[in-house]
Amino acid sequence: MPTLDIIVLTAPSGAGKTTIAHRVMEAMPDVEFSVSATTRAPRSDETNGEDYYFVSEERFHELADAGELLEYEEVYSGDYYGTLRSEVETKAAEHPVLLDIDVRGALNVKRRYGDDALLLFIAPPSMEELRRRLETRGTESDDSFRTRIERAEMEMQQRGACDAVVVNDDLDRAVEETLVLIRQFLNR
Ligand code: 5GP
Repeated sequence: MPTLDIIVLTAPSGAGKTTIAHRVMEAMPDVEFSVSATTRAPRSDETNGEDYYFVSEERFHELADAGELLEYEEVYSGDYYGTLRSEVETKAAEHPVLLDIDVRGALNVKRRYGDDALLLFIAPPSMEELRRRLETRGTESDDSFRTRIERAEMEMQQRGACDAVVVNDDLDRAVEETLVLIRQFLNR
């Protein structure tokens, strides 16, 4: 089996993982992004096929039943997110692949791929800061905000199971640290 390079960024919602993922992609043009499937509605700045494949719940379950999802989670009640086998297997054959997924999904990917996967946990400097960032982002309803905070507490407890933790206290510094860890992994 050839070695695969699967980079998994995981973090509580609002820790800055998606911003860091975009910055990694800019700095490392060879890295391909694994576009997940989700049943959540697109936000105004999101593009189908780039940020996510936005699918109906029926379609999502068809994909899961057909074994097309490497892992999937009901990340927030009623919203399903899953990593598409086709995305990872096709892209990883030629390039390092970057996944931006929740902690439970990330641990499942690590279990499946072992040393072929680098699992990086992006942590907010504190829970207070995470709360503040989610409020400023203003994309969430009150309910969704509360669920995200509750879930973040659970997710923070899993950080010890990841290969490394990057604290996003300063975005440029966190991106630099993430790039160093990825380069070390790619040169292993
Ligand atoms: P958001 O709704 O903010 O885009 O994403 C919510 C959470 O779902 C984030 O932590 C995101 O990383 C995670 N997520 C996105 N795609 C996947 C996936 O394919 N599988 C899993 N397990 N989580 C995902």
